[in-house]
Amino acid sequence: MINCLSKEIDPEFSEILWRALDGRKLTVDEGERLFKAKATELLALIQTADEIRRRQVGNVGTYVVNRNINFTNICIGSCKFCAFSRRKGSQGAYVLTTEEISNKVKEAVKFGATEVCIQGGLHPDFRMENYLEILRAVRSVSEDIHIHAFSPEEINYMARREELPVKEVIKALQDEGLNSVPGTAAEILVDRVRKVICPQKVSVERWREIIETCHRLGLPTTATMLYGHIETMRERAQHLVFLREIQGETWGFTEFIPLGFMHRNTRLERAGFKPWRNAIDDFRMHAVARLMLTNYIDNIQASWVKLGPRLAQAMLRAGANDLSGTLMEENISRAAGGCVSRMMPRQLEELISGAGLIPRQRTTTYELL
Ligand code: SF4
Repeated sequence: MINCLSKEIDPEFSEILWRALDGRKLTVDEGERLFKAKATELLALIQTADEIRRRQVGNVGTYVVNRNINFTNICIGSCKFCAFSRRKGSQGAYVLTTEEISNKVKEAVKFGATEVCIQGGLHPDFRMENYLEILRAVRSVSEDIHIHAFSPEEINYMARREELPVKEVIKALQDEGLNSVPGTAAEILVDRVRKVICPQKVSVERWREIIETCHRLGLPTTATMLYGHIETMRERAQHLVFLREIQGETWGFTEFIPLGFMHRNTRLERAGFKPWRNAIDDFRMHAVARLMLTNYIDNIQASWVKLGPRLAQAMLRAGANDLSGTLMEENISRAAGGCVSRMMPRQLEELISGAGLIPRQRTTTYELL
């Protein structure tokens, strides 16, 4: 079955693959070793991830019909990997009015979207009321559309501004119609890395507190990782084990989304960062995630925004089973050099069937439509 588990492979490496196939929990040491897979080892890793994907979710590849709405790019943050944010009053800075947000939701409904994904910068003048108004603007157009909105960083910002516990902030958002939360702002969930690339951002423990509170209040979240910058392979493995620990407590993660770092127009680029992530590393990332999250997070998403459509398609045979959504517009990766910002359902279906999987539209929480 796993033909690549040949004599050419280090027996220790091969043993890790067999343990993953047996559904065992891989350790940080084992994850780190997998992230260093080369040549034949890499082929065996990919083949193992493809087999585990088949066992866990079958030969179905999913996508969601959704729309991104980035309501402002004005942000007081200073994340060194971000090309999206602008200071208030600077060129290119914008804030959408509630009318503009409603119009975007109307277009999404007309397009057949089942979800709007709403995130923005930390606007210095925003209070809790502004975030609630955004939710009301969506609900004034559609009672049914799934609102996937506000990262842990934004929820933390609301809590700080209002001097409220996160639980109360999340409940207030839920009362206005929030359905789920993007597990972004995770970057690498290791404080050493965060101190360098995003020192002002929520700490690892605060991220966990917000995510776990969402889960306990019945709000599912995604889980993400920004990879390919200054992190070590061991820190990637630590991140995955950390997500697995949270999932073991709350079972609130719907999916894991590896997000490859795009360096253009970022502070890291200006500081001389040399990009090193390549397609081989993208394969490793998706495949290792499938092995390390086995029996904890079933859905691994390949982001066509970050990878480009063809490489994202290839990830569907390297552990991933989902191709993200139509998005209709994409601003964050485009600011960092991304080229494609929308996909039609037919294009996503062609990519999925081209990878040999059965394409199926899904809801945000992975019910097949
Ligand atoms: S990543 Fe988010 S919080 Fe950080 S600077 Fe960019 S918009 Fe602001």
